[in-house]
Amino acid sequence: LFVDAPLRTGARISLDRGQANYLLNVLRLKAGEPVLVFNGRDGEWRAEVSVEGRKSADLVCVEQTRTQIPQPDLVYAFAPLKHARLDYMVQKAVEMGAGVLQPVITRRTQSTRVNLERMRSNAIEAAEQCGILSIPEIRDEMNFDKFINGLEKDRLVVFCDEDAPVSNPVEALSSFGNKKAGLVVVVGPEGGFTDPERALAVAHESCVRVSLGPRILRADTAAVAALAVVQSVLGD
Ligand code: SAM
Repeated sequence: LFVDAPLRTGARISLDRGQANYLLNVLRLKAGEPVLVFNGRDGEWRAEVSVEGRKSADLVCVEQTRTQIPQPDLVYAFAPLKHARLDYMVQKAVEMGAGVLQPVITRRTQSTRVNLERMRSNAIEAAEQCGILSIPEIRDEMNFDKFINGLEKDRLVVFCDEDAPVSNPVEALSSFGNKKAGLVVVVGPEGGFTDPERALAVAHESCVRVSLGPRILRADTAAVAALAVVQSVLGD
């Protein structure tokens, strides 16, 4: 369970109504029962339920069960999608190990207003479900050109492009197996990238333009496919 509170032995953590309802009425936990909690900084802790009523509850921290794991230096940059598709994309990107979520506004992006709070709650839910101990950083949306121009020269840019010549993406990435300067995976909008955007990305010193196969994938599917390929070749 993600909690927004410092974790140390004996610390008392107040839960919000949603969390209390989940523990008391969905999981049906009783006073004294254990819950694993994390806050993104202090590792994972075993806490115990201290029940005060049917609708409210506190936890008390007992002992640390895992130390903090550093956030992976993997940025997932994507053109925002609408509502449920964006929810799905955020959840899957977190499950697939993205450490930073960066919405980028390209020329063909249709959803230019991003609900960062909603992204964050989806990221928290995904982090809770997959047992990682940190919540990926959610960055404010930014213009695609500005984003590419601001990247460090040695950061490997995996630019997913359905117009790239079809070739095996695992092979395309395998020569970067010892890359240590961090990664960014870029997936475009419903209408794809424009030629000037392609040219800008490819001009970056450490860009690999990859095909994910001969079919045009939905952007949310491309997110999962691209991150799976990257993790299989370059992941920890
Ligand atoms: N119209 C669909 C949608 O609404 O999602 C398809 C969008 S596709 C153009 C969106 C992005 O997914 C592309 O800009 C590219 O980054 C990625 N993508 C889709 N298929 C791909 C493929 N076969 N190879 C590489 N990238 C792909």
